Amino acid sequence: MTASHAHPPADDDPRLLRVWEWPHAPLRTPAAAVEEFGEELRALVERMWVTMYHARGVGLAAPQVAAPLRLFVMDCSPREEAPPRVCVNPVIVERGEEVLSTEGCLSFPGLTVEVPRAASVTLRAQDARGEVFEVALGGLEAICAQHELDHLDGLGFVDRLGPLERRATLREYLRGLEALAGEGQADLGEVIALTRAALGEGLGEGLGEGLGEGLGEG
Ligand SMILES: [Zn+2]
Repeated sequence: MTASHAHPPADDDPRLLRVWEWPHAPLRTPAAAVEEFGEELRALVERMWVTMYHARGVGLAAPQVAAPLRLFVMDCSPREEAPPRVCVNPVIVERGEEVLSTEGCLSFPGLTVEVPRAASVTLRAQDARGEVFEVALGGLEAICAQHELDHLDGLGFVDRLGPLERRATLREYLRGLEALAGEGQADLGEVIALTRAALGEGLGEGLGEGLGEGLGEG
């Protein structure tokens, strides 16, 4: 999830991790439960905080930095009163009514998607020391927790859309990536190629292209 914090870490902070873009494999692979609550985990959490604040995100899941573990961090304080939270092995034990939420994602540069989510959730998780806690979340925190938890299951927010809408959204994503690459931004060649390949999956070339175009701007 994205938003803006006032003072992000410096670009050359050695603790920064690479944030992988969808559809790189770490973003499409379910993560494993965290079993060791030691120094290594706490170091990863610290680096995730630095990386999240640097990217001006409100949430970051371990698979986004290619760590295949069930863990996310979130800090929704730019938008609402909320403490920073480390959520290890999280599960949603209760959900409220469904709403449509408009979201960005650090792993989908430039894309905004409307996704159905529960307006409130009760989350059970462990902190970085393994202590179990349960918390009732509403507002942006509830949305963010669901978004990040999806990453732990190998899902991006486009996977919450119906098949045709997903395809149209991926075409929009691809166009946005191509525009960013045209402006000389980063090394997006690989993610562009992977997204093209993902669009080629499933429906078959000719039929798929036609369906995608038809829905694209509607
Ligand atoms: Zn995300």
